[in-house]
Amino acid sequence: MTSQKLNSFLEQNLQDLKDNGLYNEIDILDGPNGAEISIQGKKVINMSSNNYLGFSNDERLKVKANEATDIYGVGAGAVRTINGTQAIHEELETKLAQFKQTEAAVAFQSGFNSNMGAIPAVMTKNDAILSDELNHASIIDGCRLSGAKVIRVKHQDMDDLRAKAKEAVKSGQYEKVMYITDGVFSMDGDVAKLPEIVEIAEEFDLITYVDDAHGSGVMGKGAGTVKHFGLQDKVDLQMGTLSKAVGVVGGYVAGTQNLIDWLKVRARPFLFSTSLTPGASAAIIEAIDIMSNSTDEHDRLWDNGRYLKEGLKKLGFDIGASETPITPCIIGDEKLTQTFSKRLTEEGVYAKSIVFPTVPRGTGRVRNMPTAAHTKEQLDTVLAVYEKVGKELNVIQ
Ligand code: PMP
Repeated sequence: MTSQKLNSFLEQNLQDLKDNGLYNEIDILDGPNGAEISIQGKKVINMSSNNYLGFSNDERLKVKANEATDIYGVGAGAVRTINGTQAIHEELETKLAQFKQTEAAVAFQSGFNSNMGAIPAVMTKNDAILSDELNHASIIDGCRLSGAKVIRVKHQDMDDLRAKAKEAVKSGQYEKVMYITDGVFSMDGDVAKLPEIVEIAEEFDLITYVDDAHGSGVMGKGAGTVKHFGLQDKVDLQMGTLSKAVGVVGGYVAGTQNLIDWLKVRARPFLFSTSLTPGASAAIIEAIDIMSNSTDEHDRLWDNGRYLKEGLKKLGFDIGASETPITPCIIGDEKLTQTFSKRLTEEGVYAKSIVFPTVPRGTGRVRNMPTAAHTKEQLDTVLAVYEKVGKELNVIQ
C-alpha cells in the first residue's frame, strides 16, 4: 500500500501543471547531442543545447574517455575524501587551475553541486549575500542552504548593488558580505558588469563570486568572463560547469589555495557524493587542452552567433540585448511563444520556448543556442524556417 496522501498530492499537482500548460514533456534523443539531433526518429536542427563548442560528441574526447575507463574503471568507487580521488582527478584540478589562471581548483560532479557546495562552505547565517535577481536556480538554492541573509539586487543594476552593499555593510549586522552573479546570463545572453562589480566590491570589501557556467569556453577566448575582463586577481570564487562548452559533465570552483583547501574539507558534495567518473575527467582534460591550444571552435561559435543574430534581426525579430552567442527571439505572449516553438519543430528546427516563471511574464522567448558544430547551411535553414513560421504567426511582417 502506498501513501494516499502522497498519491493525492502528486495527482492534484500534476493535473494543475497540465491544466495550465506548464507540464514539461521530455523529448528523448535517439543518439548524441549535436548540431542535428534525432528525436524518436525525427531529425531536427538543434538550437537548444549548451554544447557550445560541439565537444559533447567529439572523437578526441571520446578516445580519452575510453582510455581512462580502461585504466581507472567506470566509477571512482568512493567519495573524494575516502578513496575516490584517482590520479586523473588531481590532473583535472591542476589543469583547471592553469586554465583559469588561479592558484588552485576543485572539481565537483556538476555545476549545480558546485554552487550547492561552495556557497554554504564560505557563507553562514552570520553573513549576507547580495544576489542578482536573475541568478541561476543553483545559486538561489546554494544561498538558501547557507542560511545567510539573501538580498536580491535588481538585474545588472549597479546603483542598486552599491546602495544595498552600503546598507548591508554599514548595518554592522553581518560578518561577511558577498556579491554573487552569473558571468553570462543564460536567458538573455548579457554579460555581468564585472569591472564595476569589482570596484564596488573593493569599496565595501565584498566577497565576489562569479558563476561562469555560460562564460567558460565562450568568453575570454575560452577561459571565461573573468579572464575576458582581465580580473583574475579580483574575483574570489570563479565557479564553472564542465557540461556546457566543455561538453562533458561536472563543475568546479577556482581560486586561491586557501579557498580550495577549505572547500575540500567543507563543501558537502565533495565530502559526501562520489567523484566524477574517470572517463568524464579524462574527456574534460582533453577539452581543456584543445581550448588551451586553439581557438578554432571558439571562433566558429562566435562567427555562427553573429551570423544567426544578424539574420534574425534582418527578418525583423526582437533578439534582445545579448552580448554572446546566446540568441533569444523574444515573442512576448506565452501561448504564442509555445506555438511558435512547436511550429519550428514541425518544420525541422528544435528551439525550446522559455516562458514565465523562468523569464518575466510577457517576455516569452524561443532561445537559440548556436554552436561551433553548426554549418552555415544549417543556420540558413534555421533562418528560412523562422521567416516562414514568423510570417505565418504574424510575429514578423
Ligand atoms: N549555473 C548556471 C548559470 C547554469 O546555467 C547552470 C546550468 N543550467 C548551472 C549552474 C548548473 O550546471 P550543471 O548543468 O553543470 O549542473
